[in-house]
Amino acid sequence: MINDPDCIFCKIVAGDIPCFKLYEDDATIAFMDINPVNPGHALIVHKAHHKDLFEIPADNIASVTLSAQKVAKAVQTTLKPAGMNLLQCNGSAAKQSVMHFHMHVIPRHIEDGLTMNWELVQGDLDKIGALAERIRGIM
Ligand code: 5GP
Ligand code: ZN
Repeated sequence: MINDPDCIFCKIVAGDIPCFKLYEDDATIAFMDINPVNPGHALIVHKAHHKDLFEIPADNIASVTLSAQKVAKAVQTTLKPAGMNLLQCNGSAAKQSVMHFHMHVIPRHIEDGLTMNWELVQGDLDKIGALAERIRGIM
């Protein structure tokens, strides 16, 4: 599996830094974003390191997308948001900050004020962990 020792998501994949894991299969892992723009904000990555949409192999992006759909359904059942964004930020101008391809699952609410470019604000880790438990429980 391709791995970048300086990549934060590769470290999460390797178990070298902790995460609130939601789902894992042979190819992918999904976990809670620690700077959630809304409660239930989750990230899905392939275990192999590829920078972006242009470098990730087709089979890998297919695996990530299938896992994202699983996670999105579990988040939807758990939180019942009014809507959901499946988002991939590609390149620094699009606010990609972690250069390991990933998809965001972002629950949305009417007039939640969310715009495309948000600031990173650390969430309450107890609340994020408790929510991870609820979502994981139905997967
Ligand atoms: P991007 O802007 O690259 O599309 O999104 C990267 C996301 O990774 C951000 O939403 C950020 O909050 C999240 N993130 C960065 N570092 C960590 C980390 O160590 N753990 C977790 N769970 N999320 C992280
Ligand atoms: Zn990586």
